[in-house]
Amino acid sequence: MNPDHTSNAAAELDEADELRHFRERFLIPKAADGSESIYFTGNSLGLQPKSTRSYIEAELDDWARLAVEGHLHAAHPWLPYHEFLTEKMARVVGAKPIETVVMNSLTVNLHLMLVSFYRPDGERRKIIIEKGAFASDRYAIESQMKFHGQRPNDGDLIELEPREGEATLRTADIVEAIERACDELALVLLGGVNYYTGQAFDMEAITRAGHGVGSVVGFDLAHAAGNLELRLHEWDVDFAVWCSYKYLNAGPGGIAGVFVHERHARDFTLPRFAGWWGHDKETRFLMGPDFVPLAGAEGWQISNPPIFQMAALRASLDIFDEAGMDRLRKKSERLTGYLESLLSGIENERISVITPSAPADRGCQLSIRVKDADKGLFDAITERGVVADWREPDVIRVAPVPLYNSFEDVRRFAEILESCLKI
Ligand SMILES: *Cc1c(COP(=O)(O)O)cnc(C)c1O
Repeated sequence: MNPDHTSNAAAELDEADELRHFRERFLIPKAADGSESIYFTGNSLGLQPKSTRSYIEAELDDWARLAVEGHLHAAHPWLPYHEFLTEKMARVVGAKPIETVVMNSLTVNLHLMLVSFYRPDGERRKIIIEKGAFASDRYAIESQMKFHGQRPNDGDLIELEPREGEATLRTADIVEAIERACDELALVLLGGVNYYTGQAFDMEAITRAGHGVGSVVGFDLAHAAGNLELRLHEWDVDFAVWCSYKYLNAGPGGIAGVFVHERHARDFTLPRFAGWWGHDKETRFLMGPDFVPLAGAEGWQISNPPIFQMAALRASLDIFDEAGMDRLRKKSERLTGYLESLLSGIENERISVITPSAPADRGCQLSIRVKDADKGLFDAITERGVVADWREPDVIRVAPVPLYNSFEDVRRFAEILESCLKI
């Protein structure tokens, strides 16, 4: 057995991990035998911080005690509540506060951004996306194209595909596709990390290429926020959207995030779907007939937001702020690297990893392709306490999350997988 496979080796790695204590701040579901499960689906629904309950209870208490007065007099007043989240969220995605807001859900935000940033004009009306993009993103984009009177099948929707025999896209090929579409290109919209393959895209290079041909560039960061170290402002991305229930641990249906680059902050000529929460704060309650948008991302808000969801997100972002994305990412690279090395030490022909091997080209997730799409393997590891997910047609996704997963989780997972491969 490779020495790295021993529980001693994993214990030493955990011992040396300065972030190991964060695990104690999360509720880890139990496996059937009562032991802690190996929870590798933080890419789908992040675990609940133990502190979340008290953050939500504080709002329930203020509502009971103060009712409508809570808008102004709650410990965290509800009227400006989203502002308590802005700076911490901005730090998670490498943005300025004016570029960041939490609101709505992910796909809703994608629509709102497309309303403002997908404006087909003459020949310039093409959109570049990934083939096999998350279904909701595709539905949103197709419906927006139809809204503008286009037919997605007419060639205006360009779907990038990996080369024959390859599982992931090459940056050079993405850039080439952008340059080929040139002045017909209105929008590039890619994931920061592809949900299926786990590939992280070179957002800086893609943004530069898109801007080089005069296109708008946006990203869906559902699998990147809280996973990668992002620099949205520096990379000059036009807009981005993400959810908070995956790596950001804000709970099911958690309130989502939006980034709009500072250079668009005061462009009030952009078309946008308006509501009172995007209106200038000083005069919002005068309820005048004319919409005066706030500068920055806040100006895209529509409704007064859900306080309980924001309380849950605040509990989680406080933890992120304490841990720091730089330290989390460093641990993440080690944790996923460890997983990769254990997997490559397993002798078998039934599984292969399709996620890129260079740390810069992936987040924490590894996607394991199973030969002949044998779902029995997935069922067997699930029975033994692994919480991973099966994605049709033939992939098991595992995401060791640096906030709450340990090197021992990874070691146990590899051991279980290896024993199940022998069945
Ligand atoms: C998780 C995910 C979604 C989910 O969208 P909701 O609007 O939050 O339901 C959409 N797109 C991508 C890329 C995702 O990973």
